[in-house]
Amino acid sequence: MTDLQAILDGIYTELKPRIGEGRVADYIPDLAKVDPNQFGLTVTTVDGKIYSVGDSAVPFSIQSISKVFMLTLALGKVGEQLWKRVGREPSGSAFNSIVQLEEESGIPRNPFINAGAIAVTDVVISGHAPREAIGELLRFVRYLSDDDGVTIDGRVAKSETHTGFRNFALANFMKAYGNLEHPVEHVLGVYFHQCALSMTCEQLAKAGLFLAARGSNPVAGLSVVSPKRARRINALMLTCGHYDGSGDFAYHVGLPGKSGVGGGIFAVAPGIASMAVWSPGLNKVGNSQLGAVALEMLAARTGWSVFGD
Ligand code: GLN
Repeated sequence: MTDLQAILDGIYTELKPRIGEGRVADYIPDLAKVDPNQFGLTVTTVDGKIYSVGDSAVPFSIQSISKVFMLTLALGKVGEQLWKRVGREPSGSAFNSIVQLEEESGIPRNPFINAGAIAVTDVVISGHAPREAIGELLRFVRYLSDDDGVTIDGRVAKSETHTGFRNFALANFMKAYGNLEHPVEHVLGVYFHQCALSMTCEQLAKAGLFLAARGSNPVAGLSVVSPKRARRINALMLTCGHYDGSGDFAYHVGLPGKSGVGGGIFAVAPGIASMAVWSPGLNKVGNSQLGAVALEMLAARTGWSVFGD
């Protein structure tokens, strides 16, 4: 049996001199002021063991990683009907790009770019007040991570609202095409709060373990989604989870994964483990620079790539 803790310790020792690489997101003050000299990594295996290294217990803004949890909730509500509102193809464009929305009549390319996530959030709101949708997401993530310490950072949510002009543009564009049911302000209110979810690597790895374990939480023994749905969410993460860097992530790491501009990456080795890495410095496409390097090392040393060892 591979000594996972030794692998994690080795990765941490090797990467230590590089911690601080990349550029911290600076579109809102609360992200701009995050100390870039932090690095955390947690692996949770399907037999319930947890391995951590570095700043794995420090909460960070999970940002777009929340799109995975919202997608899970939306699929739970409307099932395959969701795909009338959003596509399943990689975009090859930036996370906040608007160009394809016009070309494709207000239907975003996939649920992990901003436009797609906004449409997914609209589905989750259905029939509820926006506040209830935020509460539903928070309860879901706390339940999955078995940790009531997961919070939403109200200040981050507020600054997202004040600076989210592109997200307003995307939402208005979709509204114009009839692809948003609720008022733009309501949908974005929920979207900005989901982006502001604050979690540690440990909480995040645990929350996503069901995606590594055929849709069930193996520790509690409870089913979250069917094995087929877990497989499909993983397929979407593999093809679309890193925006315009998805091909590169598949090439180097070879695992379904989802990144966020807070510097976090969540990834899944199907049937084996879920993992979360956090290092705030980003690369050119807005994904954690060192986070991707760490996952590449981890996949290489464990043989976990879905493309073979
Ligand atoms: N809050 C960010 C936005 O909507 C999230 C983007 C991201 O993590 N890539 O622009």
